[in-house]
Amino acid sequence: MMRAVVLKDIGKLEFEDRPIPKASGNKVLIKVAYCGICGSDLSAYRTLSFPPGTVMGHEFSGWVEAIGENVTNCKIGQRVAIRPCSVCFKCPWCNEDRISLCPDHIVDTIGLKNNDGAYADFTLVDDFMVFPLDDSTSLSEAAVLEPLAASIHAVQEGNIKEGDNVLISGAGSIGLLMFQYLKMLKPGRIVVWERSPFRRSKVEELGGATVVSTQEEVEEIVKEFPRKGFDVVLEAAGAKQCVQASVKLVAKGGVVVWMGQMHEPLEVDQFALTISGIKINCSIGYFVEHWDIGMKLLQEGKVNLKMMVTDEYPLERIDDAFQALFNPEKDMKIMLKVHDEN
Ligand SMILES: [Zn+2]
Ligand SMILES: [Zn+2]
Repeated sequence: MMRAVVLKDIGKLEFEDRPIPKASGNKVLIKVAYCGICGSDLSAYRTLSFPPGTVMGHEFSGWVEAIGENVTNCKIGQRVAIRPCSVCFKCPWCNEDRISLCPDHIVDTIGLKNNDGAYADFTLVDDFMVFPLDDSTSLSEAAVLEPLAASIHAVQEGNIKEGDNVLISGAGSIGLLMFQYLKMLKPGRIVVWERSPFRRSKVEELGGATVVSTQEEVEEIVKEFPRKGFDVVLEAAGAKQCVQASVKLVAKGGVVVWMGQMHEPLEVDQFALTISGIKINCSIGYFVEHWDIGMKLLQEGKVNLKMMVTDEYPLERIDDAFQALFNPEKDMKIMLKVHDEN
């Protein structure tokens, strides 16, 4: 038997004893090492955006515990990262490797709805989701690969050219991962807009950006720019004020990327948008290429993933971990440690 944490109701997670799943066919059983808590899990905890009965947890790493008879890409005992996004291999988007646009994505991805996630001792995944790690990559960093891939995708949707002035709104874990990848593209000026002093200090720790706390400060900065706006705005806050501001702070002809998710309707001034000639690109999850870039950056040690992880809790204390994340002044990414590295 194994432990699984089940979302029962709003604000209610419960431990259940469940049989350990069996790996057959193309399935791989993963013994979970680390699992990060995602913002989407937090919102499910608050609003039941995943149905009761869900075992959440989609940002994880671990060891191969058992493999089905058709599995050839990994071996028992190997340390692995998991790309949890489901792939149907049949739809037009999967055929283009744009896997997060697959109609099955939100329902069949590990830890979202139908397939139990990694807030458990073990979880069953498909073989194509399993990515063996080299010795230099730690399992705790490998658990940050999933949000890193999503952040790389969002930055790429900005079509950033060298020298572009770029705004990142929101410096939670996604904003910080975007920031690290963005710097590799040699933009011009980077401005990060974030209300929380703790999160601003994280950006300052990485260095290389002007960090501000209010929209007024951002508006002052753009006055100096030749086009009076940013070439690219990367919106990662998902707060109404920031989403509305994103289309005002971008220069004419610039690109806005919406990555942060907002759960209320937005009123737009269609005329103002149209005459500004801006492009709004929406970014969800990651495609195969973004995962591969993330994997490469991780193995080459080019991204600092340790600084994102502000705390580590054993799985037993998952409730405390969720509570801690409601305080943006204290925590950013919390890692649940399910099994020890040795
Ligand atoms: Zn996530
Ligand atoms: Zn598909």
